[in-house]
Amino acid sequence: MKIVLIGLQGSGKSTQGNLLRQKLGVPYLASGDIFRKMAMEESTSGKYVRETLAAGQLVPDDKTISIVEEYLTKPEYEGGYILDGFPRTLVQAQAFKEMIDKVFYIRVSDAEAWKRLKLRLAKQKRADDSPEAIKRRIALFHKMTEPLLDYYRAKQLLIEINGEQTIDKIHQDIIFKIKHG
Ligand code: AMP
Repeated sequence: MKIVLIGLQGSGKSTQGNLLRQKLGVPYLASGDIFRKMAMEESTSGKYVRETLAAGQLVPDDKTISIVEEYLTKPEYEGGYILDGFPRTLVQAQAFKEMIDKVFYIRVSDAEAWKRLKLRLAKQKRADDSPEAIKRRIALFHKMTEPLLDYYRAKQLLIEINGEQTIDKIHQDIIFKIKHG
């Protein structure tokens, strides 16, 4: 089972991705985690990724595509995976040739995402979580990632999930759709 999760930052993708990993027994891979790990490296590309993340910008498509695709060649992803944060642009989606089974769009409003992210900011400061970066990422989502919804809808892969429910209800909704289409 190959699943892609799409949603605003704060939509609960990683929470749901990890629940799905446990439930389905397939690995969870978040492109943001890959880049956060790269950002800790003391190399030129580490510094570049660090600055890109801190600014709330996207890593260029060609770089992102080759990095994520290389990850997916690892044997642990052979039997399927849950992808969070990739593809995130139309260019990435078109370049991504894997046979995806389902794409879940976990829908939350900008206001709800803001509310959750402000709470997260107050609790645990992540290097790429400044209010300016969050604002930029929400705007980037609308501009660069929303077109993916139509792209995957046209391929009849897109399933919309109401992300403004309890964690458990969202998980149940996703599982229901996996079982019953
Ligand atoms: P995330 O944890 O998914 O919000 O990702 C954190 C940051 O990593 C993003 O703000 C981007 O700078 C970068 N990133 C993650 N996934 C992608 C992607 N598919 N394309 C470009 N940049 C990405």
